[in-house]
Amino acid sequence: MRVVFERAREEAANITTFYFRPEKPVHYTAGQFTELTIPHKHPDKRGIKRWFTLSSPPTDELLSITTKYAGNDKSSSFKRVLFKLQPGTELNMAEPMGDFVLPKLIQTPLVFVAGGIGITPFHSMLDWLAATGEQRPIKLLYGVRSEDEIIFQDTFAKAAVKSTIMVGEPSAAWGGERGRLSAELILGLEKPSEDTLVYVSGPEPMVEHLEKDLKKAGLKERQLVLDFFPNYPPEY
Ligand SMILES: Cc1cc2nc3c(=O)[nH]c(=O)nc-3n(C[C@H](O)[C@H](O)[C@H](O)COP(=O)(O)OP(=O)(O)OC[C@H]3O[C@@H](n4cnc5c(N)ncnc54)[C@H](O)[C@@H]3O)c2cc1C
Repeated sequence: MRVVFERAREEAANITTFYFRPEKPVHYTAGQFTELTIPHKHPDKRGIKRWFTLSSPPTDELLSITTKYAGNDKSSSFKRVLFKLQPGTELNMAEPMGDFVLPKLIQTPLVFVAGGIGITPFHSMLDWLAATGEQRPIKLLYGVRSEDEIIFQDTFAKAAVKSTIMVGEPSAAWGGERGRLSAELILGLEKPSEDTLVYVSGPEPMVEHLEKDLKKAGLKERQLVLDFFPNYPPEY
């Protein structure tokens, strides 16, 4: 589908949300992803297409993606072009897809675990819940490297979700939780019942590591819902 880039919003020094207007309304479910194509001259070996979660709630008329910039010297050619997009640019986006979405039963206890930019599908879900007024038992555990990479706090507040933010390398001024995401922490947050679902989203190596540890700690395969973001280093 054709989309037109409308505007960007800086969420943190190295994280930006890009808003696109679709040529016709798009039906999708919060948590799904798309593939964005940005044709450009001399693409590097990673090419001109990327998968991105739609960080927007399906109730918004604009579609958004939220992503990180590794700096001019380290970024892929795709990201360098994305971060310089001019409003009015027409691009192609794939129809949204994927099953990293909320379960049908609204009473299912949910634990959302996000590493860094892995927060994007949860933003879409929580913003959608706030917009529709639907309430679900959700606890959010959000790990970031430093506190200036914490984004979307207004959405967590609006959705009235119980959130814990873990900062891996905090400044001396940080008064909240410190450390890395672990299976122990996740299971300590919500003593899992047979019905609890644990959603984990973030850099691929982080999600793989937590999947292994959560299973070792007794969580069943059917209780885990995973979203892997490739090409990011493990330390979200
Ligand atoms: C289902 C799904 C959903 C996703 N959702 C999101 C999302 O919501 N937000 C998001 O940001 N990403 C998301 N991703 C990941 C996304 O598709 C990219 O893989 C990711 O953003 C990294 O982008 P990049 O390759 O342009 O690298 P960059 O972001 O530019 O850089 C990432 C790292 O790779 C290194 N690097 C950059 N270019 C190269 C190169 N040519 N060769 C070797 N190393 C290089 C950089 O130095 C840096 O360490 C998702 C992926 C999937 C599969």
